[in-house]
Amino acid sequence: MTAPFSFAPPALNPAAPGSPTLDVLIRGGGPVGMGLALALSRDGLRVGLLAAAPKKDTPPDVRTYALNAGSVALLGELRVWDALPEDARTAVHDMRIHGDGGGAIEFSAWQQGIGELAWIVDAAALEHALGEALRYAPHVQRLTQPVAASLTAVCEGKDSATRDALGAGFESFAYGHHGIAARLVSDTPHHGTAWQWFRHPDVLALLPFDRPQVDHGFGLVWSQPQAEAERLLALSDAEFEAALNEATGGAAGTLRLGSPRSAWPLRVGQAQRWCGPGWVLLGDTAHAVHPLAGQGLNLGLADVRALARVLVEARRTSPWKSLGDERTLRRYARERSTPTRAMSGLTDGLLHLFAQPSAPLKELRNHGMTLVHHLGPLKRWLTARALDA
Ligand SMILES: Cc1cc2nc3c(=O)[nH]c(=O)nc-3n(C[C@H](O)[C@H](O)[C@H](O)COP(=O)(O)OP(=O)(O)OC[C@H]3O[C@@H](n4cnc5c(N)ncnc54)[C@H](O)[C@@H]3O)c2cc1C
Repeated sequence: MTAPFSFAPPALNPAAPGSPTLDVLIRGGGPVGMGLALALSRDGLRVGLLAAAPKKDTPPDVRTYALNAGSVALLGELRVWDALPEDARTAVHDMRIHGDGGGAIEFSAWQQGIGELAWIVDAAALEHALGEALRYAPHVQRLTQPVAASLTAVCEGKDSATRDALGAGFESFAYGHHGIAARLVSDTPHHGTAWQWFRHPDVLALLPFDRPQVDHGFGLVWSQPQAEAERLLALSDAEFEAALNEATGGAAGTLRLGSPRSAWPLRVGQAQRWCGPGWVLLGDTAHAVHPLAGQGLNLGLADVRALARVLVEARRTSPWKSLGDERTLRRYARERSTPTRAMSGLTDGLLHLFAQPSAPLKELRNHGMTLVHHLGPLKRWLTARALDA
C-alpha cells in the first residue's frame, strides 16, 4: 500500500503548529535508534529519543553480532567502540564456510592484506555502551511521549507499528525458521576462526568470542525449521550439546553450553517506501535480512551514516529547508535501498540454492564454493562487500 503524498499521521506531530522544538524525533531505542541519536547529536542537531520501556523479566540477549569495518568505524567515531569491555569484542581472522557436499570456501584476513575480517561483539554490551554514551551526549532528550520535530526517524525494528501507521508498506516473507543463539565454550582455542555450515534445512554459524571464556568461547547462531528449533530448545543441556557436536563434527573442538538458549523467528522484508514528508525509516524497520550473512545491524548502522551525512549536507547547503523535506530524504533512500536489496537477495538466494535437494544442484553448488575458494579476485571482492555493507 502506498501512502498519499501529504500523509502525516497526527501522532507524528502532536504539538500545536509552530516551530518544532526538536530537529529529529527518533522512535525506537535499539542499536540503530541509539546510534542515530549519537550521530545526529555529534552533528549538532536537537534530538529526542522515544524508546519503549524495557520489558520486565526479559532474558539477557545472548546474541553475538558480527560487525564489519564500516560499523566499527562508526562506533569508534561515536566513542562507543573503545567503551566496550575488552572481552566483549573479538577479532575474526579466518572464516571457514562448508557446503553440504564437500564444498568449502576459506577467507583469511592475512591473505586479503587486512587486519581482521570482522569483529564479534556482545549484543547486550553494545546496547549498554550505546546507552551510556547517550547519557553524556549533548542535544539528546530521552522522551516518554512524542514531541513535535521537523523529522521523525523510525527505528522500531521489523515489527514497527509507526511504519505501518505511515502506510510505508513492508513486503515480508517468513522463512518458517528460527535462529537459535547461545554462548558456547570449546575445549580447543578458537584462534579467531569463524565457522559456518550451509546445509538443508539448517545453517549453523560459530563465531569466535572471548565470552564466556577467553580464547575458548563461541557465539552460536543455528537456523532451523521452527519445529526442529522448538525440539532443540526443549532438549536438556547435555542432549543439545550432543546434537550440536554432531552437527559441527568436532571441527571447532568439543562444545558445551556457556549460556541459556534463545530463539528468534526469521524473516526477510523490505519497506516499499523508505521516506515521506517529515518521516524516514532506518534499520530493521526498513529492511530485515536472514542472520546467515550477519549483516542486519551492519546495514542499519550504514543507514545511520548515510542519513546523518545527507542531513548535515542539507543543513549546510539549504539551511532554510526543513530537515523533513522529502526530496532530501529521497537522497538517503536511493543510496541505501540498493545495497540492502542486494544483501537481501544474496542471502535469500543462498538459502534457496541450499534448499534444493536435487543431486546435480548439490554437486554444482559445492563445486561453486570450491571454485570461489580458488578465485583470488572474486574472494577479495566478496570480502570487500562484506566489510562495508
Ligand atoms: C539470531 C540473530 C543473529 C543476528 N546476528 C547479526 C550479526 O551477526 N550481525 C548483524 O549485523 N546483525 C545481526 N542480526 C540482526 C540485528 O539483530 C538487527 O539487524 C538489529 O538488531 C536491528 O536493530 P534496530 O535498532 O533496527 O531494531 P531492533 O534491534 O529490533 O530495535 C528496535 C527497538 O525499538 C523498540 N520499539 C519497537 N516499537 C516501538 C515503539 N512503538 N515505540 C518505541 N520503541 C519501540 C524496540 O523495543 C527495540 O528496542 C541478528 C539477528 C538475529 C535474530
